Amino acid sequence: MNEEIILAKVFINPGHGGTDPGAIGPTGYWEATCVKAVADILNVKLQSVGISTHVYQSGTLSGIAGAANAWRADWFVSIHCNSSAGTPGTGTETYHYPGSAQGQAFAAVIQAELVKKLGRANRGVKSANFQVLRDTAMPAILTELLFINNPVEEALLKTPACQENAAEALAIGICRHLGVTYPNPLPPTLYRVQAGAFSVRANAENMLALVKAAGFTSAIIREVSGVFCVQVGAYSIRANAEAMLALVLAAGFSGIIKEG
Ligand SMILES: [Zn+2]
Repeated sequence: MNEEIILAKVFINPGHGGTDPGAIGPTGYWEATCVKAVADILNVKLQSVGISTHVYQSGTLSGIAGAANAWRADWFVSIHCNSSAGTPGTGTETYHYPGSAQGQAFAAVIQAELVKKLGRANRGVKSANFQVLRDTAMPAILTELLFINNPVEEALLKTPACQENAAEALAIGICRHLGVTYPNPLPPTLYRVQAGAFSVRANAENMLALVKAAGFTSAIIREVSGVFCVQVGAYSIRANAEAMLALVLAAGFSGIIKEG
């Protein structure tokens, strides 16, 4: 079993919920529905890189900060949609608690990534004495993705593409701020064309000289747990490895493709 490494604990709070719809768009779309969808996608993304998460949606404001504090979160992210009286606003803004340098730095990264992905107006990083920012014991931000009372932005917020973009931007921003590589860098599969493997290095060097003389000038010796492999090439696409193997065989050498 792999040892589990917890990189950080991020508390994700999609705003509103329960009987509280939050703001409601012109077609009746609920803020609470939208931000829960984004939070659920974000949750999977953060877990995929080893970040510990807790998603908590509640219509009761006072319980949210308490839940984050009790869970001992390292970071707090509240996700909302904006709404305005009168003429609908447009764009993205992100809040931190007034005077919180850590919150401000976190908000700046999140805001930049969201604006990049959502492609709407950049309303900037702001501070506000919101309860969830004030009562949380860790650096906290609250982001207003887009204006749900703006018909254009409501239509966007409803789409899986926009929800995915918002979650991806949040994941990129959170990971960038925490210094976590995102997405998880799976080592690419390499198809290595090998012309012999030897337990004695001198024998491998003799073979290396022969394959180089035959025109395979980029061949190298690669040592794998005490075995000296004459590697003619390494490719991420199998077909390319097969093409090289054919050349190696045609030149009279024995050869194989090693995967991994
Ligand atoms: Zn809200």
